[in-house]
Amino acid sequence: MDELISKLKKLVSTSDKIVAFTGAGFSAESGISTFRGAGGLWSKYDPSIYADINYFVKDPSYYWSFIRDERYPVLKKAKPNDGHYALVELEKRGILYRVITQNIDGFHQIAGSSDVIELHGNSRNVFCMECDKTYTMEEVNKKLEEELPPRCSCGGILKPDTVLFGEPLPQYALDMATLAAKKCDMFLVLGSSLVVYPAASMPRIAKKNDASLVIINIDPTPLDNIADIVINESASKVLSTVVEGG
Ligand SMILES: [Zn+2]
Repeated sequence: MDELISKLKKLVSTSDKIVAFTGAGFSAESGISTFRGAGGLWSKYDPSIYADINYFVKDPSYYWSFIRDERYPVLKKAKPNDGHYALVELEKRGILYRVITQNIDGFHQIAGSSDVIELHGNSRNVFCMECDKTYTMEEVNKKLEEELPPRCSCGGILKPDTVLFGEPLPQYALDMATLAAKKCDMFLVLGSSLVVYPAASMPRIAKKNDASLVIINIDPTPLDNIADIVINESASKVLSTVVEGG
């Protein structure tokens, strides 16, 4: 382990255009539950009912009950962790080019990262599907105490700026992320199992454009075989150790 960490330190010190790609595993240290795998939220809530746009359009109350019971209580309590702050430190040193995230919790921004591409949208903004009026999480939380699904003052159904299953990823974010993968000199995967698109394709793009590829994830990923360094550990822990050491 120590050997891998010093190898990673060396690689970080010779890179000046690092792209960090964060997944659910990166927020896990903040107490945000992951979705996939044993104990993940999808083992408790069938995503085709609780998180799919086609079902949402039919009956949004399932989705909103999931948000009310599982997401908002956690998001309200949770905070960015050492890993998020380590990325802010890399940005201060001028060697972090972009953060690309699959997470919707907004912790990168709360920690202070200024350049974050959110592939799956975010849970901060909620909008009315009829009139586009926007609401904050706090406002919606209040509504949720009274009605399910929460509605706009116009009567329309509210939906967060989060990408549900069956919805396309925001094109602008996708374009920005692809460009970042092409231009970086190190693609640093942090807590993503790299199984869903576009997570599965971004590291390949970076690698094809001569970047080094580092994967830090608790479990092995399908792209470990093309990575320069693989560390099967908590990504936020490893990253904060690497950055602390200077
Ligand atoms: Zn409305």
